[in-house]
This record gives sequence, structure tokens and C-alpha cells, in this order.
Amino acid sequence: MPTYKAPVDDVLFLLNDVFHIERHNNLPGFADASPDVVEAVLSEAAKLCEEVLLPLNRSGDIEGCKRHDDDGSVTTPKGFKEAYKQVVDGGWVGISAPVEYGGQGLPSTLTVIVNEFMCAANMSFAMYPGLTQGAIAALLAHAPAEQKDKYLPKMVAGTWTGTMNLTEPQCGTDLGMLRTKAVKQADGSYKITGTKIFISAGEHDLAENVVHLVLARVEGAPDGTKGISLFVCPKFLVNDDGSLGKRNALSCGSIEHKMGIHANSTCVMNYDGATAWLIGEENRGLPAMFVMMNEARLGVGVQGLALSDVAYQNAAAYSKERLQGRALTGPKFPDKPADPIIVHPDVRRTLLTIRAFNEAARALLIWTALKADIAHRSADEKERQSAEDHMGLLTPVIKGVLTDTGFANTVLAQQMFGGHGYIAEHGMEQFVRDARIAMLYEGANGIQALDLVGRKLGKDGGRAMMSFFSEVQGYLKERADDDALNPYLKPLGQALAHLQQATLWFMQNAVAKPENGAAGATDYMHLFGLVTLGYMWCRMVEAARGKLAGANGAEPSMNAKLVAGRFFMERMLPETASHLARIQAGAGSVMELPAEAF
Ligand SMILES: Cc1cc2nc3c(=O)[nH]c(=O)nc-3n(C[C@H](O)[C@H](O)[C@H](O)COP(=O)(O)OP(=O)(O)OC[C@H]3O[C@@H](n4cnc5c(N)ncnc54)[C@H](O)[C@@H]3O)c2cc1C
Repeated sequence: MPTYKAPVDDVLFLLNDVFHIERHNNLPGFADASPDVVEAVLSEAAKLCEEVLLPLNRSGDIEGCKRHDDDGSVTTPKGFKEAYKQVVDGGWVGISAPVEYGGQGLPSTLTVIVNEFMCAANMSFAMYPGLTQGAIAALLAHAPAEQKDKYLPKMVAGTWTGTMNLTEPQCGTDLGMLRTKAVKQADGSYKITGTKIFISAGEHDLAENVVHLVLARVEGAPDGTKGISLFVCPKFLVNDDGSLGKRNALSCGSIEHKMGIHANSTCVMNYDGATAWLIGEENRGLPAMFVMMNEARLGVGVQGLALSDVAYQNAAAYSKERLQGRALTGPKFPDKPADPIIVHPDVRRTLLTIRAFNEAARALLIWTALKADIAHRSADEKERQSAEDHMGLLTPVIKGVLTDTGFANTVLAQQMFGGHGYIAEHGMEQFVRDARIAMLYEGANGIQALDLVGRKLGKDGGRAMMSFFSEVQGYLKERADDDALNPYLKPLGQALAHLQQATLWFMQNAVAKPENGAAGATDYMHLFGLVTLGYMWCRMVEAARGKLAGANGAEPSMNAKLVAGRFFMERMLPETASHLARIQAGAGSVMELPAEAF
């Protein structure tokens, strides 16, 4: 059975020593997040994840969700209902939601961290509250007051859950092909008719009501993405006093049998003239849904890291138990029949590859989550804009890089088990299967790369990109004379130069010939990701050195940071050169063959 220990100490190091969360105490909700409150919240979350959610991960995978043909209802695996009740009782869905709707108003950074723990312990389970948080964000940003009052208190409490309904059989990436129809009624409501597929948590038995956010086309609306509107469409209609009314005309037609996340219901949702209400304005549905999509994209990045971390923890533990072969320098455990495999350089290389990614990815998520808090809570418009620029630029990087690498890392961790990793008992193959979906949903990763290169780079005259470059350049310049930091700064400087060369190459070669940009987009996204992770490593190493100096060198976890950071600089960051070379090769060979040659 896999084990999991939530990385509370690592998170506290990042919050307190690297990003100095106390510097944000001017933001609403941050003053309440004093160090002892944060530590208490994280310790409680860790306990819930380690003791309640983790034990249900494998049984949930084996049992899966079950749809009942008589009424289309869906039952989640044994134990999920009781565990979900604990999530509701603990107020976990709304820890960062506004106090006026029953939330605790704490920084949303804490929600991101708690979600990492939950996903690592049980990704299928974590998706039920996770999607609800995304739906809450969309309603908060775009719904009129009466809808907020009607839905948010129950959703924030977790007694109702939320979903996002975009995908249809003929329309996945290309939302312009969406067909679901909305017809306006005399009372101002709409009737929704159509079929949505692949709807996560579309139907289940965990909550009293499911609040669906649905994209549909109002009769007579323009074709393409300009004619899409967003609606709120609950499973049970809600009476004026907040009680549940009659069942709405929507149902789950079937659930998918899929590669992983078996305990999360992936539903075909049929809308048969279901009653719904417009969120925001007609034909402005996509920008409204983007609030939920962006939230969800960061959430999916969190899933990539979470599975990489739980897989790492189990591989590291196994490498200290499994006895095979002897160390190249002679037996390390001569009293045993063989040494544990952790003595072998290739095993260590593999484990460090995963770990050096995980620790920097966690830093990147927390850095970005703090920016999200600034973007939503700061009173200073300039500060808000700069934080929004950061989020816009880094969202596709986080979604694409953390899930591509997160999945690759679950495979690396599985490799550490040899053939035993392929056997279900150890749980490693489940991590691989569960992690795979994160590269696909919320916009497949190729689309994230196109979003970065095609939209985010040039947005507002390249303001976000320029500000990122100047932040990293400024950081390197200020520390140029720090000899001890030099082994970290120099590779980062080199990697940044590669990113700048790639950006310039796009400016010179992709404007007139967009295929050059599209063919290099995935490499660019990963090159960008490596630079951000390298920057995170420099900041972590600097903070770790500070802590070591204070403790007279007696902090093993901080020493380990210096080593993992060096490993990243020496063995992972140099990959930026390959990405640059592939980008500069352009679209030539990629586009040369006719379609029939494939
Ligand atoms: C388990 C699961 C849960 C899901 N949950 C939800 C949910 O809750 N709500 C919801 O609405 N949807 C959900 N989805 C749907 C998911 O978001 C889509 O599957 C995804 O967006 C891709 O759409 P598609 O499958 O139609 O692929 P397609 O759009 O057909 O894409 C196929 C391939 O072509 C590539 N491609 C497509 N267009 C382009 C282009 N212009 N340029 C370059 N490459 C391109 C894509 O990157 C992809 O690799 C879920 C899917 C799954 C499997």
C-alpha cells in the first residue's frame, strides 16, 4: 500500500523563508493567517489527507463509480461519502472563500497548498471539492447578486458541488463548434437543450445538489466563440427560501470507463430543456468561463506536482528497502545479502530528477498563488495589474509543464520498483494512470503551449514577458558578486539567455510565418518552465543558506536543498539548450510531408 506524508515543513519553509508571506499582511485575510494559524491549518489538512483520503485511494480506484440505470444516479466508492462529510465539516472547501458567503477568507495560497495534499492522497476525491472551488470563483466574478446569494453559501460550505460543462462530442479544443442551445423564457430564465460529455463530478452522491455551469448558444447568437453564453443550471431547482425544489430536466446518461481517476465520475450530461439562468451577459460566456478555466488550469498543475510527489515518496522509501546488488565502492551493508538500491548512482539520479522538480514546482505554485491573492485582494491597481500579468503568463506554463513532467515523474518513480512497479499492489501504476489525464483536460498541453506563444507573449505589447525578464535579470544582477551563489546564478543566467534568444527568434520568424511559432511552442513552454524552476531554485538556495548560517550548518533538510538545487542546475537546466535548438529549427521538417504521408 502506498504511503504519503504531506510536505508541511517544505511548505512552511517556502511561505516563511522564501516568499515571506508576512510581507503581504496588508492584504485582506492575510493578517488572520498568522504563522501559528497557517501551521495549524496545514497540520490539520495533512492529517485529513494522510489518515482519511489516502486509505480510500486504492479501494476507490478498484471499485470506481457506479451509475444506476433506473434513475441515472451515480454512487461513489465506499467511504467517499463519509470522507466528504469530514471535508464539509472541516470547512475545507471554503477556507479562502469570502466570509460574507460563509468562507474563512484566508489567503487562496492556502487552498492551493491544501489541494496539493488532497490530490496527492486521492486525486479522484480531490476533484469534487476542487471543481466546486472553480465554480465558486466564476460565480463570484460574474454572477448577479441574487445568484450569488442563492448558490454560494451552500457551495462554499460544500453541501452543494459545482461542475464545468464545456465539452461536447464534436467540440473539445474548438469551442466555436459548440451546439448546446439556450432559449429565453418569459420569466427571464432559459431552457437548455444539448449533450455535454466528459463532465467531471457531473453526478454523484456526495452532495445534496450539483450546480452545473454550462456553456450554450442562445437562439440567434453569432456562430463561433462570439456566440457563447454561460449559464447556471442546478440539478435541483432552488426555491426562494434556499430550500431545494423540483428536479431539473437534466441527467447523467452514462459514465466513462477510463484509464485512471476511476473514483471521479466522468459523465455524459443530457440537458432536456433544463431551466437555467444567464451568468453575466449573453454572448460573453467564454470570458466568464475563463475565470473557472484559469482556476482549474492552476488546479491541474497542482495535480501534476501532487502525483509526482506521492510517487517520489514511495519510490524513495522503496529504494531504501529493496536489496539488490552492491555499491560500486564496495558493500555498504556487508551484513545484508545485498545493498539497498539507493546506493546505485542511477537510482539516485532518478530520484533526484523527480525531487529537484517537485521542490521547485511547489515554489512556483506558491509564488503564483500569492500573485493570485494580490490580483484579487490588493487595493493598489498597479500591483493588481502586475500580478494579473504574472498569472496570465504563467498559467499555461504551470498547467503544461507541471503535468507533462508530473506524469513523466510518476513513470520514473514506477521504474524504481522494477517489475514490482508494474504490479498493481504497490500502487505505482495507479499514480501513472491518474497523472495521465492532467496533460489532456483543461486544454490539452499542446494548446497550453499555443496559448503561451500565440497569445500571452505578445499581449499588451509583451508587458508580462518583459516584466518577467526584468525581474530575473534584476535578481541575477543584484547578486552577481555572491561567489557562493554563483554555481546557481550562472546556469540560470545561461538559461534565461536561451529563453530570450528563443523569444527574439519568434519575433523575427514567427510573425510572418506563424507555423514557426506553433511548431516551437511546446519546446518554448518547457524552456520557459525550466527558467522559472531555475529561478525558484536560486531563491530557495538563498533562503536555505540563510537558515544554515543561523543554525551553524545543523539543518540537514537545508543542506539537502543546496544539493538538490545543484543537481537541478547541473543536470536539468542545461536542457534549455536543446529546446532552443529545436525552436530555431523552425517549422520546415514539421510541415514538409503531405497529410497522406503520415
Ligand atoms: C477524464 C476527463 C475529464 C474531463 N472533465 C471535463 C469537465 O469537467 N468539463 C469539460 O467541459 N470537459 C472535460 N473534459 C474534456 C477535456 O477538457 C477535453 O477532452 C480536452 O479539452 C480536449 O478536447 P478533445 O478531447 O475533444 O480533443 P481535441 O480537441 O479533439 O484534440 C485532439 C488533439 O488535437 C490537438 N489539437 C486540437 N486542436 C488543435 C490546434 N488548433 N492546434 C494544435 N493542436 C490541436 C489537441 O492538443 C489534442 O492533442 C474531460 C476529459 C476527460 C477525459
